[in-house]
Amino acid sequence: MIALFDQIHRSPEKIDGLFVTHEHSDHIKGVGILARKYKIPLYANEKTWAAMETKIGKIDPALKFLWEVGEVKQFGDIEVESFNVSHDAADPMFFQFAHDGKRLAHITDTGYVSDRMKGVIRGADAYIFEANHDIGMLQMGHYPWSVKRRILGDYGHVSNEDAAIADERSFG
Ligand SMILES: [Zn+2]
Repeated sequence: MIALFDQIHRSPEKIDGLFVTHEHSDHIKGVGILARKYKIPLYANEKTWAAMETKIGKIDPALKFLWEVGEVKQFGDIEVESFNVSHDAADPMFFQFAHDGKRLAHITDTGYVSDRMKGVIRGADAYIFEANHDIGMLQMGHYPWSVKRRILGDYGHVSNEDAAIADERSFG
């Protein structure tokens, strides 16, 4: 990770904050270690803090920050707003970053794309959107049914097909 920071001539000590979208282990495994090692402020909403606190180790109270859904925070000249998503976590969120009239939405784990999310995507100049399966391949694949049902459900993950229609501009 440090090599990646070196490539862009930055150091992890300069990070203004780690934004935790939700408490699933693939999203929080490193946050406690990073916060302690580089004194990086951690941001999450109250329910996410409650769900992850025992899993990430001891965090200096000075590095703990609350960020509820719908709240806007300013980091230097970047304005960041949080939105909720549909995912099987305590209170999952995604973030939109705005600077100089430009917007970037960053949406990961969500089971479906709400009208609100479509609105954010429509208003963004760019967006990063996670879609993690082809429905047919998933159904034919080797995962147990419980896992397939979770991924395909409204609180799992978006399929490639759903991601394609999330951006209404793709229909002109
Ligand atoms: Zn997740």
